[in-house]
Amino acid sequence: MADYYSVLGVGKDASKEDIKKAYKTLAKKYHPDLHPNDKEAERKFKEINEAYAALSDEGKRTNYDRFGNTGEQQGYSQGFGQEGFGDFSDIFNSFFDLGGGKRARQGRDMKVEVELTFLEACFGCSKQISLTKLEHCSHCEGRGGTGEKNCSTCKGSGRVQKQFRTPFGVFAQQSTCSTCSGIGKIVEHECKNCKGQGRIKNTKKVTVQVPAGVADGMNLRLSGEGEAGEFASRAGDLFVELFVAKHDIFMRKGDDIYVQFPISFSQAGLGDAVIIPTIRGEVKMKIPAGTESGTTLRLKGEGVENVNGSSVGDEMVIIQVRTPQKLSAKQKKLLEELAHENKEKLHVEKGWFDRFKEDYLHA
Ligand SMILES: [Zn+2]
Ligand SMILES: [Zn+2]
Repeated sequence: MADYYSVLGVGKDASKEDIKKAYKTLAKKYHPDLHPNDKEAERKFKEINEAYAALSDEGKRTNYDRFGNTGEQQGYSQGFGQEGFGDFSDIFNSFFDLGGGKRARQGRDMKVEVELTFLEACFGCSKQISLTKLEHCSHCEGRGGTGEKNCSTCKGSGRVQKQFRTPFGVFAQQSTCSTCSGIGKIVEHECKNCKGQGRIKNTKKVTVQVPAGVADGMNLRLSGEGEAGEFASRAGDLFVELFVAKHDIFMRKGDDIYVQFPISFSQAGLGDAVIIPTIRGEVKMKIPAGTESGTTLRLKGEGVENVNGSSVGDEMVIIQVRTPQKLSAKQKKLLEELAHENKEKLHVEKGWFDRFKEDYLHA
């Protein structure tokens, strides 16, 4: 256990007000509602509460200053640890008025993963998913039952005051009413369908509209499609994480599509009109004479529509010149003729070394 003063970040001479102020700030920062499933924040929150419980009580503080402990046989931290989150909230709520004593939690956010094909991501689609979540009970419309009336324990305020009698005086602490969970109202006839909880687990189909232009790793947020809130409070949101499969031919960078297109040696030399696959079908494209391997030709507007609908990407066609591997006798002869022709041409123009320098060294 760390030193209580350093846990709260105050000096040994800190006033009661300083301690309270430091506690409020830290408790707000590490409150478990803000860090679900975060063990470290939970530990920190316990520690802060333990330190505050000791230092806010004059008697315990005096004992702690003198003896290094609060003088309690049972460590506060042990007792505290077993009480669970509800009680953290009680202490928290006793300092931060959440308004009218209402403490109904809003529904949790949920997350699902959806897999899309490459083209579904390009053009958008609608996906049906099956979702198991807490929904408002239809029998009681989320109220938990019928015959609603004010809670007699807290007289409708949702809060109760606990008093602690100590040798130093009587201390009062406000906490959430356990009879009505802070709602201030109870129902006379508990709903049998949801056992008074107002919410019930249901599996239902949800249709997710995926817009055109989404990419791998993007999240869609469906407002209010998460878990239903307690006692008709706000529902959580549903986050849909998208996974996009790879495509055999197309590759995507942002809104541009990339495709490798093989052409023959003679097409590269002489040029040609070819049919190129695009995500929308096929388009005709001219390959200029003298196209080198690795050249990128752009097909404007043949890419993906931007997810915001503001623009459309292009398709980049990367030309790959295939070097002939197996030649027929005739092809071989033709190539030899071509080679002979080239050699003579080179000879006339320049020496081979000059050409080498031009092509490679200065490229
Ligand atoms: Zn009550
Ligand atoms: Zn019900």
